[in-house]
Amino acid sequence: MSDASAKSDASAKSDASAKSDASAKSDASAKKTTTSLPTPLTIDAWQMVAPNEPLRRTTRVVQEIAAHEVVVRVAGCGVCHTDVGYLYEGVATRHPLPLTLGHEIAGVVEHAGEDHADLVGRSVVVPAVIPCGRCWLCRRGKEMVCAKQIFPGCDVHGGFASHVVVPGHGLCPVDDAALARSGLRLADLSVIGDAVSTAYHAIVRAKVGAGDVVVVVGAGGVGGFAVQIARALGAHVVAMDVDPKRLTALTRTTTNGERVHGIDVRGREPRELRKDLLAHLHGHGLPERAFTILETSGTKAGQELAFGLLVHGAHLGVVGYTREPVTLRLSNLMAFDATAAGVWGCPPRLYPDVIDLVLAGKVQVAPHVERRPLHEVNDVLEAVRDHRASRRIVLVPDGGRS
Ligand SMILES: [Zn+2]
Ligand SMILES: [Zn+2]
Repeated sequence: MSDASAKSDASAKSDASAKSDASAKSDASAKKTTTSLPTPLTIDAWQMVAPNEPLRRTTRVVQEIAAHEVVVRVAGCGVCHTDVGYLYEGVATRHPLPLTLGHEIAGVVEHAGEDHADLVGRSVVVPAVIPCGRCWLCRRGKEMVCAKQIFPGCDVHGGFASHVVVPGHGLCPVDDAALARSGLRLADLSVIGDAVSTAYHAIVRAKVGAGDVVVVVGAGGVGGFAVQIARALGAHVVAMDVDPKRLTALTRTTTNGERVHGIDVRGREPRELRKDLLAHLHGHGLPERAFTILETSGTKAGQELAFGLLVHGAHLGVVGYTREPVTLRLSNLMAFDATAAGVWGCPPRLYPDVIDLVLAGKVQVAPHVERRPLHEVNDVLEAVRDHRASRRIVLVPDGGRS
């Protein structure tokens, strides 16, 4: 982790000199050109100061940004379980505290360094993971493991704020006319930054196409979007969850309900559920092998179930995160000639496709999003921690236009 600590040192230094932390990082990318903002920008931000303590409201002044950076005025920032992980579950941020959390951001580019002047005034979705785009991993399409990737709210100050300073190269512009036609607000698109795009990436990795079967374990949040995306791509979807209401809602929001089959997993063993699943597929003349399983619950029970559903040629995408270990017979992968892959974020190059799906209404975000004012962030984080939030919560900066 020497790389991460080097980053942190650079960031800490920049805070002391009242520069944006991301601009310090540009030193490392061998470009020292900076752009002074017309007037110093005061960012209104909610920062994590210590684990298990409420976020504290603060201001941060940015006077200049690097050539490759932009300032995005936040329209909305989604609250993710990862934020709860940093605040309450002992997951460490790479940037030292205090740090502004939040990595699911949509907004409008207010200022840009000289490399991205064309982005000023554009509505954008900020990818949760912004790879450098230049290293050998990025050039080989392995950008999600880029060692220089930036994750707002972890590597640099994030989106629980009026503005964020991020690299301009990964941003995904949104067509304002298409957005207006969709009836959605820019703030709603923040959930594309992580929840929707990560689900999309998992499905792309699994090479899901029309007629395929996708089994989603854990149908809330990311899983709920995975159900919709798989359905939009013409797959037959089976959703498994502990909440029957969630299953009913998912069946209702898709355009062709009968192609989403819900299985209530409460109190049932993986072996029994696998039998049910195979009986359902058999009964509908659907492929009983080589289907895709996506584990999005991020729970021990969900992971055990997902692994227990493996069949010949299956692909298991691990999307959810839990610190709890599980005991598995890994040789099942060998015996079934199956594959398993972890999914970290989504490459920026896939974002335009995700935005298209959402703006075309093929993947609905509005019914699954709840906008709340940013000053309620501490209540919201507690609600997400305690599983009291039934929809993805998007924080809208106070006085901001969503
Ligand atoms: Zn997230
Ligand atoms: Zn890279």
